[in-house]
Amino acid sequence: MAQDSTVMIHGSAWKRADIADAVADCRSHQWRREPWVCRDALVQRTGTTSLFVGQRYDPEFYEMVRGGWRHDHCEVCWWTLAEGGDEEHSIGYTDGRRWICRECYHQFIETQAL
Ligand SMILES: [Zn+2]
Repeated sequence: MAQDSTVMIHGSAWKRADIADAVADCRSHQWRREPWVCRDALVQRTGTTSLFVGQRYDPEFYEMVRGGWRHDHCEVCWWTLAEGGDEEHSIGYTDGRRWICRECYHQFIETQAL
């Protein structure tokens, strides 16, 4: 049945097959509920931004910007998580590096159902 092959996330229909790999990967990690807050970023002179997690960098090519990492995306549905605002966007689950939104966590990680 078509209904069985789709799942609703934030009001949008997703094919279960399209998110199965991401969900399986996320289940192998430990997640904790946290408010999303801005973190430091390394901004390459060419414009590419990476999360700063204490790695060494060459200041000739990179600039470290305090609080410059302003959002993340849910590993499963690409929902935007950012600081402040409503809890749907500002609270998620993290493994310390990556994030998943509350809806995906409750639907796929907590319940182990897909
Ligand atoms: Zn999600």
